[in-house]
Amino acid sequence: MRRLLVLLGLVVGLFCAELENTLSYEKARQAVLNAEERLMTGGRISLNSQESKVDDLFMQYKLGELAQGFRNAEQNTAGMHFFKAKPLIDRSAIFKFLQQMPKGAVLHLHNTAAVSSKWVVQTMSYMPGMLRCTDVKGRSRLTFRRAPKEHSCTSQYILVADERRNSIDPALYDENLEKLFNLYTPVPELEYPTITAVWDRFQGMFDTLTEAIYYLPAFRAYHWQLLEELYNDNIMYAELRISLRELYDASGRTFPREQAVREMQLINDKFVRLHPNFVGIKVIYAVWRGSDVEKMRENVEEFKILQKAFPEFVIGFDLVGQEDKGKPLYEQLSVLKDLPPNSRLFLHAGETNWYSASTDINLLDALLLNATRIGHGFALVKHPILMNAIKTRQIAVELNPISNQVLHLVWDMRNHPGAQYMALDIPVVICNDDPGFWNAKALSYDFYYAIMSMAPNNAGIRVLKSLVFNSIRYSAMTAREQQRAFQLLENSWTRFIEKVLQGKVF
Ligand SMILES: [Zn+2]
Repeated sequence: MRRLLVLLGLVVGLFCAELENTLSYEKARQAVLNAEERLMTGGRISLNSQESKVDDLFMQYKLGELAQGFRNAEQNTAGMHFFKAKPLIDRSAIFKFLQQMPKGAVLHLHNTAAVSSKWVVQTMSYMPGMLRCTDVKGRSRLTFRRAPKEHSCTSQYILVADERRNSIDPALYDENLEKLFNLYTPVPELEYPTITAVWDRFQGMFDTLTEAIYYLPAFRAYHWQLLEELYNDNIMYAELRISLRELYDASGRTFPREQAVREMQLINDKFVRLHPNFVGIKVIYAVWRGSDVEKMRENVEEFKILQKAFPEFVIGFDLVGQEDKGKPLYEQLSVLKDLPPNSRLFLHAGETNWYSASTDINLLDALLLNATRIGHGFALVKHPILMNAIKTRQIAVELNPISNQVLHLVWDMRNHPGAQYMALDIPVVICNDDPGFWNAKALSYDFYYAIMSMAPNNAGIRVLKSLVFNSIRYSAMTAREQQRAFQLLENSWTRFIEKVLQGKVF
């Protein structure tokens, strides 16, 4: 017993010699619990009296929902796959709270999978001229022009409008069309039995949709909708990973690739003008990680040109695609080291369950390359030295809970390593990766899992506030922009707290 008390005393930093006299078992027990609570994300935030009242309310609902799940596994949203839990989450009071809560920024989101599939079907696929064809793999490709070089279609190009009109049931046609770029199924364990099965479908969705998005009128409408969906989810800023392509219009004209960046900037400027509480987006130039060194060099050259042309808007570089498939960062070192010294890297790393495989070691290379943030960092939990470095150097980990679940790294979100990161106060931000491709919308669903599954049962407003403010703190905004964003966020946070106390949220 004495040894236990001394040990606990050491853990909580108390003076050992006095332990036996002063520290009862109960006190020692409580001291450790308190110390863990102080150590974790948000543990040192002190709430004002208004926030404390909201915390009390929030905890009533949260503990109620957790207790419901504890009693009935079929309703345990915290431990369920998103596809099964979504109808329950949609009815949850905690989810409604999170939707209305200002969430700051989303710092890991891919443009071509960002918009809800509903919108793509209901609006984009009804734009005149959308065509569909089938490629050699039997996969549908959507576009607004015939035979672009990206396509290897073996079928005729058919107008989507004609197909819809000629179908027996146009509503059913739309339902099937949506399945081309939405992974949802009520039985993910059957439909995607392996990580390869789900990644193949997932990767195929980019092939199906991307070419259509780069049709100029669609591009404008799509990115406007992207901003709308973020804004309506109470997000004020985003750093968007973009895959760059040439834009084309109805007359068959094509535009240089950088025109897409210019268009995005114009859309952003207009959106910000009309939504004063939205501070805008910046973009991260993202390229296919499987490219050979020569192609990668071309990418780096293009990135340098873009960075020069849009110094405030194009903020960094990343490599995308399934990490487990290979091409670790180490193989691209010679190219990555060639980036100008002022370039920032926002690297996907550690999106794997393969401990010490070459892709797992991407985490080490990302740190040695001085990455500004780490995308996913799912495997970081197995690398104590890297975890320590990340905490000391304050490099944020971009957590994407639903993405990791849908793409087969974890089933029960309570086992997500984000729980450990939060327990150790490793800087994390909650992100959504590709919400449009898995039946989600914006960021609130990922926040739901962060607070219900990854944070401890008794974690409330302190953790939420910390996660929200982290998203601005670890963004790549300039100091000036960040200052303004913090000010706006403080204001909207205060308004939100008042709204909750006025009974307008719960
Ligand atoms: Zn990603």
